Amino acid sequence: ASTVEGRLDLDGNPIKAIKICIIGAGGFIGSHLCEKLMAETPHTVFAVDVYNDKIKHLLEPPRADGRIQFHRLNIKNDSRLEGIVKLCDLTINLAAICTPADYNTRPLDTIYSNFIDALPVVKFCSENGKRLIHFSTCEIYGKTVGSFLPKDHPLRQDPDFYVLKEDASPCIFGPIEKQRWSYACAKQLIERLIYAEGAENGLEFTIVRPFNWIGPRMDFIPGIDGPSEGVPRVLACFSNNLLRREPLKLVDGGESQRTFIYIKDAIEAVLLMIENPSRANGQIFNVGNPNNEVSVRQLAEMMTQVYSKVSGEPPLEVPTIDVSSKVFYGEGYDDSDRRIPDMTIINKQLGWNPNTSLWDLLDSTLTYQHRTYAEAIKKTLANPTTS
Ligand code: NAD
Ligand code: UDP
Repeated sequence: ASTVEGRLDLDGNPIKAIKICIIGAGGFIGSHLCEKLMAETPHTVFAVDVYNDKIKHLLEPPRADGRIQFHRLNIKNDSRLEGIVKLCDLTINLAAICTPADYNTRPLDTIYSNFIDALPVVKFCSENGKRLIHFSTCEIYGKTVGSFLPKDHPLRQDPDFYVLKEDASPCIFGPIEKQRWSYACAKQLIERLIYAEGAENGLEFTIVRPFNWIGPRMDFIPGIDGPSEGVPRVLACFSNNLLRREPLKLVDGGESQRTFIYIKDAIEAVLLMIENPSRANGQIFNVGNPNNEVSVRQLAEMMTQVYSKVSGEPPLEVPTIDVSSKVFYGEGYDDSDRRIPDMTIINKQLGWNPNTSLWDLLDSTLTYQHRTYAEAIKKTLANPTTS
């Protein structure tokens, strides 16, 4: 591998160009990671996915200088995967079903995708002595300990009862009939398996737990670049409502709390993991922005304001309506009450901190949504039969 002058890792050593297999490279996070690797590093990417719409701009000449190649394959049933893993120095697995609307309505697909389909990837890395960065989720923590205390209990204010810490917090899921937790449970078991491969067979692994990464290209806008009846994650749901000038739907009152992080901040953390293996191997990292906490209701209010600013349209007269989770998601939905990441471990190992405020990340993301979709939405609203 060649050494590219000028780029040093956190310990001052020159960074060598490597080959990276990215599974799920055509998704939201994958597309931003590929973009970053092409723009700022010398590494070569073997991009694996069943779709490539979100990375087309990187694959087409003249931008692609041979450092990224797309392999359209389904990792469920394609024997070519092992060859690609063997060819690369590092595999990053992003492939998953990861939209809450699927967890209780397609529980089998959810469990297969997040556990069974990830097994061969772990095995190929372990058997061939290859490094693995596996994407898990903050949802692995489930509900906070504090959520089980009475509403006005003083310990609810104590960070020990709500801040989520990689090496100390328990994983608390609801009963089996709440199929929402099938995703978190499948992710938990694959984490445990990877950890065990590390302990027993020496697999060099890093596990990433993303806390609500958001930004351009996340999911789809129903009826425009995804199914009309599809339910994406909250950023795309609310964007869709704003683009169509309809009220934003608050599930069960919008009381759940989330911390949102700008995708570009989060990708910086992933790049540090890629280029500092000695600091990242064997670690589980929360990646989120603890300073950007809001309730879903507050998020809806902020997005309404920001969208009005970037689109020049007046704010909606009735900005939100309440909807029950049973009506919105169906039977078996449940929710994480609060998600604040502890940042001690990633700070210590990689010296990383997020820096984009919620207001700024919504400003740039909704500017993108408006620019990308407003015309198409106008057309479908004017001519509904053609959509
Ligand atoms: P995404 O749905 O945009 O990307 C996933 C990609 O994987 C898609 O392009 C999909 O086509 C691909 N894929 C799925 N199954 C595949 C298969 N069998 N073969 C080949 N490709 C397949 O989701 P994302 O937001 O980019 O998330 C990536 C990872 O991060 C997932 O593992 C997810 O669980 C995790 N995660 C993300 C967030 C977040 O905030 N975005 C939060 C928690 C966890
Ligand atoms: N939500 C909502 N309205 C919507 C979509 C989502 O109130 O139109 C809520 C959902 O119930 C959850 C939060 O927004 O409390 C975040 O949902 P998302 O789908 O982004 O994923 P999660 O953070 O739960 O993994």
